[in-house]
Amino acid sequence: MPAAEFAPLAAPDLSGGVLTVDLAAIVANWKTLSALAAPGAAAGVVKADAYGCGAVAVGRALGAAGCITFFVALPEEGKALRAALPDAAIYVLNGLPPGACEAFAAARLRPVIGSLAELAEWEAFVSATGWAEGAALHLDTGMNRLGLRPEEAKALALRPRGKPLFSLVMSHYACADEHGHPLTARQLVTFREAAALFPGVPASLSNSAGLFLGSAAQFDLARPGYALYGGNPTPWTANPMRPVVRLDLSIVQSRIVPAGETVGYGARWTAPNTSRIAVVSAGYADGLLRTATAPGLAPVLGYIDGVACPMVGRISMDLAAFDVTAAPVEKVQRGDTIALLSERFGVDDYARAAGTVGYEVLTSLSQRYQRRHVGG
Ligand SMILES: *Cc1c(COP(=O)(O)O)cnc(C)c1O
Repeated sequence: MPAAEFAPLAAPDLSGGVLTVDLAAIVANWKTLSALAAPGAAAGVVKADAYGCGAVAVGRALGAAGCITFFVALPEEGKALRAALPDAAIYVLNGLPPGACEAFAAARLRPVIGSLAELAEWEAFVSATGWAEGAALHLDTGMNRLGLRPEEAKALALRPRGKPLFSLVMSHYACADEHGHPLTARQLVTFREAAALFPGVPASLSNSAGLFLGSAAQFDLARPGYALYGGNPTPWTANPMRPVVRLDLSIVQSRIVPAGETVGYGARWTAPNTSRIAVVSAGYADGLLRTATAPGLAPVLGYIDGVACPMVGRISMDLAAFDVTAAPVEKVQRGDTIALLSERFGVDDYARAAGTVGYEVLTSLSQRYQRRHVGG
């Protein structure tokens, strides 16, 4: 069922808006991405509460569809996921905090080892306890964020081999979503060489965008996040993913603004004609990035019954305004809703209007919205 056809809520909505997450669309996107990863597999990246979509619900849905490997950023996130997924392999991307080995073992979390200091601490723990749950080795291939440098990886590979410490070697692209960026090709070559230093250990490189670089660029395990949630992993062309999130905001009131009067803080928008303005119960405290109403960028378009209604005036903390003059008047009454994120105007569209990336739009969606999971 496409996201547009969800029935409106019957019960009175006491929150400012309803965030609907289509779990069936997430699963369909995971299957699409798994086909691109074949003969390797696709994991599920569910950090930051599954990009705002709800890590436990998403983890359960993907687990039921056959996903057996997950990535979170923090051990706290991993603990919450472990409770929902007793058998999955759960990797923690941000690595091993000092003194955290026992906590990792207690929840059977696998650190993504990203520095020699983390490696030393994990190795000491493993040799003292015989712990064999596995860990990933992060190799830096040019992003200079996390991971062993190539010369550190070479030195590590030259050491006499004891018991296998790693269940995965991985690296991360810096620019895979920029079509033809030269760093992407360099990182692929560097990773191929570095991963070959650890024969027999499964390798993982692609994020969402990396899966669209062709089959020759795939390894054993892909790590898609953004594309699972309907974001466009190929921003230079049409979005191949199914939309996942829909955000319906509640109209607090509709009012007529005479021509020449202004709306909102700073009086930044002036009604060119007599206009009908709908004020909705969501603002920047709900993750409506305030830069979206800065002049010069694309308009933010809410939709009512298929009619585009531009957001006008500055976004307040808890309120925002739309020019709904073009919408049917009976659809813009108190208690009605306006769709801000839908398949007509999605996460990537809002990001363009706000001068940012859809990742930030998704992960900013606040906990004040009522979250509704469908298709699970
Ligand atoms: C966030 C993250 C991913 C997922 O990236 P997307 O672009 O969302 O698919 C994969 N790997 C690492 C190391 C990450 O930090």
